[in-house]
Amino acid sequence: MPEERPMPNAALRVLLEAIEDVMGANGTKAVLNAGGLSKYIDNYPPKNLEMEATFAQYGAAQQAVEDFYGPRGARAMLLRIGRATFQFGLRDQPAILGLAGIALKALPEKTRMKLILERMAKAAVDRVNQPTVVMEEEDAYYFIVEQCPCKWRPEHDKPCCYVTVGVLMESMAWITGNMYKVEEVACISNGAASCVYRIPKEPSE
Ligand SMILES: [Zn+2]
Repeated sequence: MPEERPMPNAALRVLLEAIEDVMGANGTKAVLNAGGLSKYIDNYPPKNLEMEATFAQYGAAQQAVEDFYGPRGARAMLLRIGRATFQFGLRDQPAILGLAGIALKALPEKTRMKLILERMAKAAVDRVNQPTVVMEEEDAYYFIVEQCPCKWRPEHDKPCCYVTVGVLMESMAWITGNMYKVEEVACISNGAASCVYRIPKEPSE
């Protein structure tokens, strides 16, 4: 196992609230037990930025959801959990998303997408202890995460960070009103140096 890496309480709390929203209270209990996180049953981390949670715990919760549904069924559930993670984060913890007080309505859609991705990357660095950069190519943006909870999960033969895919999809839907097909094109759990998400500049419909 890699060395422990701390993250803010609020980041893990938002994930657990999203899991509860999608799986219900009993499903969440099962996940927390299976993930070795039983201390959080009925006792989620507080809504603050103290660095008392860990990347390993965040990864263990995601892994327990994957194990609960099996690799095939898990994908859709993890995407839903990711979308809920964005919505709960936006409502309760906009600082960890970098979206507190943002107002971009007057800007063109692609400019808004890029600004949001850059704000989220900066917040990941400043608040979540997660080095992240945004790159741009002609047809897509790339959200590149250099430290990911999946590093503390078992190796996968395919990218596994569907929660983050869901977070990015929901953030793009929120800022543009359109659906973008976000893909994780490289993943640390799959042997890559970083988890890399591709966000196309054209919406899917
Ligand atoms: Zn990954």
